[in-house]
Amino acid sequence: MRLTRLRLNGFKSFVDPTDLLIHEGLTGVVGPNGCGKSNLLEALRWVMGENRPSAMRGGGMEDVIFNGAATRGARHFAEVALVIDNAERLAPAGFNDADQIEIVRRITRDAGSAYRANSKDVRARDVQMLFADASTGSHSPALVRQGQISELINAKPKARRRVLEEAAGISGLYARRHEAELKLAGTEQNLLRVDDVLEQLAQQLSVLIRQAKQAARYREIGEDLRRAEGMLLYRRWREADEARHVAEAALRERLVAAGQAEMAARAATTAREAAEESLPALREEEAIASAVLQRLALQRDALGDQEARALAMMTR
Ligand code: ATP
Repeated sequence: MRLTRLRLNGFKSFVDPTDLLIHEGLTGVVGPNGCGKSNLLEALRWVMGENRPSAMRGGGMEDVIFNGAATRGARHFAEVALVIDNAERLAPAGFNDADQIEIVRRITRDAGSAYRANSKDVRARDVQMLFADASTGSHSPALVRQGQISELINAKPKARRRVLEEAAGISGLYARRHEAELKLAGTEQNLLRVDDVLEQLAQQLSVLIRQAKQAARYREIGEDLRRAEGMLLYRRWREADEARHVAEAALRERLVAAGQAEMAARAATTAREAAEESLPALREEEAIASAVLQRLALQRDALGDQEARALAMMTR
C-alpha cells in the first residue's frame, strides 16, 4: 500500500485546492519558514484520523479550517484527500475492491468531521484500522514532526517498542487486540445487564404468578356471586309470581262481588223506579186522607164543644 497523492482544500494555509504528488522514491518539499511544510504533515495525520487538536497545533479541531488572511475571507470547511495505490490489493476487506483508495476527511464549521472512502461514507474507526493494518496511521512514529528526532533518541523503552512493532508490521494486531478487549469488556457488561434483566424478569414472573392466582380466585368468586344473584332473582320472581296468583284470585273474588253488587244495584234501581211510579197515587191518597183527617178533627172539635155546652146546661 503506497501513498500517491495528498490533496488539501481549505486546510490551514492551503486555502485553494493543492495537490502534493508523492512519487516513487524520495519526495521532498522545500520552502522558507512558515510556507506550510508542517501543515502538510499535519494534513496527512489528520486524514488518517488524528483527533487531538494539540497534534494540529490548535485549540479546537475547527482551527484546521483556513481562518482568513488579509486578502481572503475565512473558509467554512476544510477537506483533505489521501490517495493510496492498492494495485497489490493488500488493503483490509471492505477497502480492497479497487486499485486505488481515496480517503477523504472533511470538517465543516459547527458540524464536525466525516470520512469517505472511494465516495462511500465510512466511520473514523474504519479509516484508523485501514492505516493501522498497513502499519502506519496518525500516531505512527514514521511521521516525524519537528523536534521529534531528539525526542525519539531520549524516548522511553515503551515508545521505542512501538517503533519496532510498527517496523515488524504488527501494530494493526495490537490495535485489533485493543478493540477485541474493548468488545470483551462490552460483552461482559452486557452479560451483567442480562443477569440484571433475568433477575428483574424473575421478580416480574413471581408478581405475575401471584396476580394470576388472584385473578383465578376473583373469577371463582365472581361465578359464585353470579350464581347467588341468579338464585336471589329466581326467588324474588317466585314470590312475585305467587303474589300475582293471590292478587288474581282476590281480583276474581272482587269481580264476582262487584257483579253481584251491580245486580243488587240494578234490582234496587228497578224497585226504586217502581216505588217512584206508585208515589203520586199514594201522595194523592195521603192528601185525601189528611183532608178527611182535618175534616174529622174539625167535626170532633165541634162535637166536643157541643158536648161541653150540653153538660153545662145539664148542671145548671
Ligand atoms: P516552519 O519551517 O517555520 O515550521 P512551516 O513551513 O512548517 O514553517 P507551517 O508551520 O506549516 O510552516 O505553516 C504555518 C503557516 O500556516 C503560518 O503562516 C500560519 O499563519 C498558517 N496557518 C496555520 N493555520 C492556519 C489557518 N487555520 N488558516 C490560515 N492560515 C493558517
